[in-house]
Amino acid sequence: MVTHEYGECVVNTAPLTLSVVIPMYNEEAVLPLLVDRLRPVLDGLREPYEVVAVDDGSRDNTAAILIGLRRTWPELRIVRLRRNSGHQAALSAGLFSSKGAYVASIDADLQDPPEKIPEMLELARRENLDIVYGVRNDRSTDTPFKRWTAGAYYGLIRRLVGKNVPSQAGDFRLLSRTTVEALQELPERAPVLRLIVPWIGFPSGQVTYMREERAAGSTKYPLGKMVKLAVESITSFSAAPLRLATWLGVIGVAICTMLLVMAFGAYLLGETVPGWSSQFVASLFIGAVQLLCLGLLGEYVGRIYTAVQDRPTYYIASDTADEPVVHYDGFTAGAGR
Ligand code: UDP
Ligand code: MG
Repeated sequence: MVTHEYGECVVNTAPLTLSVVIPMYNEEAVLPLLVDRLRPVLDGLREPYEVVAVDDGSRDNTAAILIGLRRTWPELRIVRLRRNSGHQAALSAGLFSSKGAYVASIDADLQDPPEKIPEMLELARRENLDIVYGVRNDRSTDTPFKRWTAGAYYGLIRRLVGKNVPSQAGDFRLLSRTTVEALQELPERAPVLRLIVPWIGFPSGQVTYMREERAAGSTKYPLGKMVKLAVESITSFSAAPLRLATWLGVIGVAICTMLLVMAFGAYLLGETVPGWSSQFVASLFIGAVQLLCLGLLGEYVGRIYTAVQDRPTYYIASDTADEPVVHYDGFTAGAGR
């Protein structure tokens, strides 16, 4: 460990080997439990680390508790977002402001065991991996509804992104600095990380674990947010929904061709009101062609729209890395983490 002594205060300049990113939204109930389990694990590593707690615009005492904890836990860094921006955005904010050579991300609710982090780190180093997924081998503690929706979600996602999306891998994972930088270079503002990470396809491994029950508090992922995540997952990887109009058009054209033949037959047999066939065919045909063209247009407009909007997904209000660290002895030791 490299340290410099300035008078009586010691500034630690050793590069961080690990950052642990934790998005938090109204997690006051679970925070003390989280610290009790996480800190011994990380201290036990005996390596310089930081914990990046991302306060995603919490309305409860999460921020105040974090500030209190930081007094006795200097490795704790608090990144506060200006408003609630959602789990994925909070995760991105934490990842992209982290500094460690490896970055682990974990939920605050202790559903994913922090004890697995050293195992992930060890595996990444031993096998020179860029990504280590935490894979749940058991979801029996989740509600049947959650299991069913999660099953449907992963089934769909594997079809869209490909088979290298580990099923049952959420956002508990370890990434190398190279992977984080690669993610940051993507032009996408709001990547769905659990999809874009497998898409990046760097060498990866897995660590399995039992999914536990939320240690305290209630889920911050109501149905609305789950639907939003699913919709974002699909639209960020596929233009299939936009193609719906195109397919309707194609089907319309096919049906129209059949009707055309029928109408022509009816015309030859003289079984028509004069003028009926031509009206009928023309309105069907034009409708189908219009849908077809609309679908094609929509496909391109959709892509341009998202690219042009280019909106930031989160705003950082404060980051304790920019503040001086006051050590227990009262000395100020430059910009801390
Ligand atoms: N979370 C967040 N912003 C939100 C919603 C959730 O940062 O708008 C965090 C939350 O504090 C937790 C993680 O995302 O650390 C996962 O949320 P939760 O455990 O409630 O989801 P579930 O496990 O029920 O799917
Ligand atoms: Mg949870």
